[in-house]
Amino acid sequence: MGLPEYTSASQLKTYAMCPRKYALRYLDDAEPEDKGPSLVVGSVVHSAIGWFFETRLAEREPTIDEALDVVHADFAAAIDGPPVRWGRWTQADLLEHTGNLVRFFLEEEGDLVVADVEERHQVELHHPVTGEALPRPLLCYLDFRVDGDDVVELKTSRSPYSEASIGSNLQFGAYAAVLDELGAGSLAVWVVIKNKRPRLQKLKVQRNPLRERWFFDAAMAIEEAIAAGHFPPAPGWTCATCEYRRRCLGTVQADARAA
Ligand code: SF4
Repeated sequence: MGLPEYTSASQLKTYAMCPRKYALRYLDDAEPEDKGPSLVVGSVVHSAIGWFFETRLAEREPTIDEALDVVHADFAAAIDGPPVRWGRWTQADLLEHTGNLVRFFLEEEGDLVVADVEERHQVELHHPVTGEALPRPLLCYLDFRVDGDDVVELKTSRSPYSEASIGSNLQFGAYAAVLDELGAGSLAVWVVIKNKRPRLQKLKVQRNPLRERWFFDAAMAIEEAIAAGHFPPAPGWTCATCEYRRRCLGTVQADARAA
């Protein structure tokens, strides 16, 4: 399998986390060995909330109970395939937790005036100082465009985002860098904090030339390393939950870690 035609925030983040993981996921199309509960929760929360606003865009008034039906269906689809590392969760508990997050968000923000959901864009990126083009265009999907042309990225997290984590986040850097090309006014990050009592953290990602330059430098370095075929492993604490750990580390090491 060749290099994907486009880069994306997910590709940049994956490479930054572990170049070998990048190669396994995007070049070898390797089958994940398992998936974590956070991935299940995040994808179902996104799809159910996306469904709610898409339904409204289609000029029908969905109810929260209907959105919870979507949670059930999407949850069943999300746990199909690679086994889930359930950890402390039972399937029923994780489903209830996911439904609670969706209910909480829609009770808080269900009246949000959304102009588009999962908007797809391909953008040619140029370094703000040198004008050099990023080797591959950036493919991005915006979670929501809200009234007034602001873009909202929805996240789920166990703890609130810090200023530092926003500043060094390649996805937010990418989206902040292309706001003009997207015809968007500003980027907001809304984080559903996955506590027993969920809460919503709302952050604005401010335009900042230094941050934009940092993002372009980082993206450029990553894209050049990918093009040059550099995919070394980056062993560390994330290996214990890596979805390719057996293939990468070998069965014996992976089982020893899991024991
Ligand atoms: S097991 Fe570790 S080194 Fe190997 S791909 Fe996964 S994160 Fe990278």
